[in-house]
Amino acid sequence: MTTSVFVSGATGFLAQQIITLLIAKDYKVVGSVRSSEKGEKLKKAYGTNFQYEVIPVLEKQGAFDEALKNHPEVTVFLHTASPATFSAEDNEKEILIPAINGTKYVLESIAKVAPQIKRVVYTSSVVAIATPEQLGDPTFEVSETVFNPLTYEDGKSNSLLAYFASKTLAEKAAWDFVKTNKPSFTLSTVNPTYIFGPQAQDEDAKGDLNLTAEIVGGVYRLKKDDAIPEYSGQFVDVRDVAKAHLIAFEKDEAKGQRIITYSGLFSSQIILNIIRKNFPDLRDRLPVGDAENVKVTASKINDAKSRKILGYEPISLEDSVVAAIKQIIRANS
Ligand code: NAP
Repeated sequence: MTTSVFVSGATGFLAQQIITLLIAKDYKVVGSVRSSEKGEKLKKAYGTNFQYEVIPVLEKQGAFDEALKNHPEVTVFLHTASPATFSAEDNEKEILIPAINGTKYVLESIAKVAPQIKRVVYTSSVVAIATPEQLGDPTFEVSETVFNPLTYEDGKSNSLLAYFASKTLAEKAAWDFVKTNKPSFTLSTVNPTYIFGPQAQDEDAKGDLNLTAEIVGGVYRLKKDDAIPEYSGQFVDVRDVAKAHLIAFEKDEAKGQRIITYSGLFSSQIILNIIRKNFPDLRDRLPVGDAENVKVTASKINDAKSRKILGYEPISLEDSVVAAIKQIIRANS
């Protein structure tokens, strides 16, 4: 029998690549979206193996009850929905509460109304493992055993810390829920670094992209005299993160594990160098920057255990950037 997988936040950059891969592998998918317009757009793109449920507010207790009752065939739940932003007017309302309470409540609903669900994957992040300073500190080691020390109060103080705290507190809440309630599902988390790469649908590559895909898109849009943005750190391609979500529920070794997804280091200058090398027609319009300056200062990543579970070679920065830029050019021509 075909396995049915629920994907929360189905409209997201990552979620759409997960759905694309699920459908390619003959899974059936139920996605949650915030409006029927968004659901219909996805249905058109993914066809009859995709159904959607409208859940406008993530952080309401029982918000997922009806949707889960409507789909007793679902045995796997991937919780990707979360505010993915470094800017908010109200850090608590817009970032912390939906991320943390949304995660707690969704697990509560699964345990209460969908005991047939055996595997749950929570999309966490390396920001649940390290603070912004630690991610830039070459003496710090990111690994599957570490959580960042940020508190809810830290998260209230600024939007960047709100995002970091939202991911660590939501992930901890998920592990605590499982430890305390011993539900019939096992939990795994996927902890990606900065996610780049192409959108699942070309039409989503028109205009501004989501927070992290726009780091690459933003370099593509630079003009000759523009300063080079100062983004740098660790990255992974979105198609690899999608693959990791499937492995997280398909493989027994992934049960109860935190899986880091990481390919290599990046900076805006390195992305610019890749675009200039691979797209000669763009060279006259783009700046050069300091092309020799390709040093990135970042924490170590010890993802040996995750790589063993994942068992694939991650997509390189060059291949990821080239795929994303080709798509932007295609979508906007
Ligand atoms: P995205 O494109 O912004 O997608 C976020 C998804 O969550 C969208 O479906 C969005 O719905 C939904 N969402 C956001 N706030 C919500 C709320 N308050 N209530 C209900 N739904 C809400 O971001 P993404 O990069 O794909 O991120 C997906 C997941 O990966 C998130 O959990 C994020 O923390 C995690 N992650 C991302 C990165 C990265 O570099 N991008 C790295 C590590 C982890 P709408 O479309 O309706 O807004």
